[in-house]
Amino acid sequence: MNNIAKTETETACKEPAKAHNYFWTIFNQKCPRCRSGNLFPDNNSYHLRNLFKMNERCPVCGQITEIEPGFYYGTSYVSYALTVAFSASTFVAWWVLIGLSTTDNRLFWWLGINATLMILLQPYFMRLSRTIWLSFFVKYNSRWQQENDTA
Ligand SMILES: [Zn+2]
Repeated sequence: MNNIAKTETETACKEPAKAHNYFWTIFNQKCPRCRSGNLFPDNNSYHLRNLFKMNERCPVCGQITEIEPGFYYGTSYVSYALTVAFSASTFVAWWVLIGLSTTDNRLFWWLGINATLMILLQPYFMRLSRTIWLSFFVKYNSRWQQENDTA
């Protein structure tokens, strides 16, 4: 028991910082393997010129970001799921906060506002989709440093 505890502390000391959780990683567009390197050199999704500019490798752990040619075509599935999830949440929020009725235009207001929000959030969503897609294939590895050393 003592020995196990000791090895655990030793490995913990070698790790740089406490790892962030999955959702933090996704929302901040970090590398899924080390959870600290940036996937995109320009952190602001709204600098549209750099929207799809990704680091070829994670600047922290060296994980390749484009696993195979055309890897990011699959992001459209994630993007679609995000769109549906987002619209469903705004719909429920609208329903609860403002209400819906067949006798007035509240439903159409929701449609318009939801569509506008979707357009405004599109650059962020596009990056979010890529980050989520990559995280499906690259799992978090707290021992990436040791593995890089042996490789
Ligand atoms: Zn990394």
